[in-house]
Amino acid sequence: MRKQFIFYWLMLTGGGLLAQPPAGNYHANDRFEQLGATLPTPNTTRTASGAPGKDFWQQRADYDIKAELDDEQRKITGSETITYHNYSPDELKYVWLQLDQNLFAKGSINALSQHNSIQPQMSSNAVRGLNAPSSVRSSITGDKDYDFKITSVKDAKTGKPLPYTINNTMMRVELPVGIKTGQSYAFSVDWNYFINEYYGRAGYEFFPKDGNTNYFIAHWFPRMCVYDDVNGWQHKQFLGQGEFTLTFGNYKVAITVPNDHIVGATGEIQNMAQVLTPEQLKRMEKAKTATRPVLIVSQEEAEKAEKGKPTGKKTWIFKADNVRDFAFASSRKFIWDAMQVEQAGKKVMCMSLYSKEGNPLWGQYSTMVIAHTIKSYSKFSIDYPYPVCYSCHVNGGMEYPMISFNGGRPDPDGTYSEGTKFGMIGVIIHEVGHNFFPMIVNSDERQWGWMDEGLNTFVQYLTEKEWDRDFPARRGEPQDIVEYMKQDTKNLVPIMTSSDNIMMYGPNAYAKPATALNILRETVMGRELFDYAFKEYSRRWAFKNPTPADFFRTMEDASGVDLDWFWKGWFYGVEPVDQDLVEVEWFAVDTQNPDLNKAEAKKQADEKRNTVARQRDKDYIKESVVEKNPDMKDFYNTYDPYKVTDADKKKYEAYLASLSPDERKLVESGLNFYTLKVKNKGGLPMPVIVKMQFEDGTDSVARFPAEIWRLNDQQVSKVVTTKKKVVQWTLDPYREIADIDEESNHFPRQPAQPTRFQLFKGGGFQRGGGSNPMREAQQNQQARPAQQGGANKN
Ligand SMILES: [Zn+2]
Repeated sequence: MRKQFIFYWLMLTGGGLLAQPPAGNYHANDRFEQLGATLPTPNTTRTASGAPGKDFWQQRADYDIKAELDDEQRKITGSETITYHNYSPDELKYVWLQLDQNLFAKGSINALSQHNSIQPQMSSNAVRGLNAPSSVRSSITGDKDYDFKITSVKDAKTGKPLPYTINNTMMRVELPVGIKTGQSYAFSVDWNYFINEYYGRAGYEFFPKDGNTNYFIAHWFPRMCVYDDVNGWQHKQFLGQGEFTLTFGNYKVAITVPNDHIVGATGEIQNMAQVLTPEQLKRMEKAKTATRPVLIVSQEEAEKAEKGKPTGKKTWIFKADNVRDFAFASSRKFIWDAMQVEQAGKKVMCMSLYSKEGNPLWGQYSTMVIAHTIKSYSKFSIDYPYPVCYSCHVNGGMEYPMISFNGGRPDPDGTYSEGTKFGMIGVIIHEVGHNFFPMIVNSDERQWGWMDEGLNTFVQYLTEKEWDRDFPARRGEPQDIVEYMKQDTKNLVPIMTSSDNIMMYGPNAYAKPATALNILRETVMGRELFDYAFKEYSRRWAFKNPTPADFFRTMEDASGVDLDWFWKGWFYGVEPVDQDLVEVEWFAVDTQNPDLNKAEAKKQADEKRNTVARQRDKDYIKESVVEKNPDMKDFYNTYDPYKVTDADKKKYEAYLASLSPDERKLVESGLNFYTLKVKNKGGLPMPVIVKMQFEDGTDSVARFPAEIWRLNDQQVSKVVTTKKKVVQWTLDPYREIADIDEESNHFPRQPAQPTRFQLFKGGGFQRGGGSNPMREAQQNQQARPAQQGGANKN
């Protein structure tokens, strides 16, 4: 029979015991039950383990495109032959194409579904833009149509016209006979459109100073919709926010431009000898062994070209295999640098195209950042499989296979703020990183924004830290998502929301999933289990089209960690993390040693008797009756109940004698037992991490898994045993779980910090907008040319 040890209650350092929660408020079982029917039923196309099944299939579309860029009219005219391969088990009587450029059509769904109102003061541009698509600057609406003009749709072999119907941004083409499983069908489309001003994804940028235009051309040709096992035809309209859903294929693209333009695109140039000068070819050779970018076109040469005029046209031919899209950039203003790196035995030519407005930042960083991004992403996902990778400069950030359009522009005097520098490096990492998600791991962007933005922003975060330990990453750190998670949950939607219906796209589709994955890696799974599973997901779904379920299942399948509670909380829910350390109770084993116990009891009794009234009575009552009359005393006026008696000693000896050696060890251990009461106020269950600050100045951290909440998701009680005495407890000491209220994370409560307010002095206070210490330093240097080295320390 085990003896029961009597714990004595040393100190109650907080409020009373927690009341039992009302039974109806328990969600523990829901939270930790499996996702079950929330996920689609596994089948032989997509397995229960999250991998492509034995019957997995996907379509393929090969493109042969000839197009011309008219710099005078800012117009694209093109002709394409699409060879569509049907690997589906279904016969297809018609095919759907995407006409994304119709986003800009007057009366597009985007334009008509924008919310707007009349303001007391409005510019004429704002009035004209009232019914324009949100993505188009109001200054360019009203005069021109920017939608696709389809001039021909015909059978590639017979040349016979094919009936087609345009439904907003989608086009249905009816086929003469259905395409059976395993068959291919080729058809041709001719089109043209006026290029819009750059709007974030594609367009032109005009430079009034030199009168030239840079072109960043994307979703510029009718592209096949995806037909797959999940949606059938994915022809959800393009409303501007939800990006693209695309099929892999091989591209051969001939782009005719003014002969003084430099062109970069998805794919390798096939006719370098025709489009480059002998000098440029020589430089390109040099770039193959360089360890720093080599200029193919220098700034001096680009500036010379800016002042010239084209004398004719030139056709650049590109080829790209196994890509889901094709984009290009073209301008006479482009500086061009290149550097070849090797990734897992494959050579990748990293290249940047930028006009002089991007320097000095672009020359120093862009191509080096591409090279680093390819290496870092390859480590966390799959090896970069393509032969080239371009980064092109425009204000914004948008990705296409092997090419991206990126921002980060210095001030006109060549100086720049730290924000501009890291913003530029961050955006290049992000957009080049999109090559992996979703250009290779080809998720459905129109439906699930987070599958590309969230996964990509997560690897971006890891890549930024490998670029510079102190990189001021915007997204990924748990504490940076707190402001978003803190908001009224009525205004939040789950990550698992269709792209076009997401409110606050940046925090929802980029930051929250990236943060969740970072927490999953660092705090829930650990790096080893996470990295293996994340790589496995990338391997399984490279050049295929995963769904959320494939991701969720693979992460569990490859790691052996049940994460359904995590997906439910972070991806399907909107609740925040908010743990409260309500109280800590301190216990120790009662040694039953009368010397210790009676002394402690005396101390407590003395403290209890030391009332205010007793203190005041000391002088107030001059003499009590008993003091005045000693005969009023008896035994109890001298009796000391706290004196250790022989009987006490004997009882203690008998107790010690009754203990086994193990029991005696525990009694004499001097261990402290602390009962922590932690409340889950936010709702989202997460691991409980608690730091103990000991009285000797050292500390230690205890970690309990999220499963601690599985039987009660509102409050838990957990005993922590320590040899040393704890003087301060802190929940989530390293800010790992995005707890939205840190004040309740300390026990005893920390004294509050004052919120400082600024004193205004006669309106002289000015808030600095985007400080540029670089310019200040340069100006200081100019002002004091004699001072050299170490004089400047700002
Ligand atoms: Zn992105």
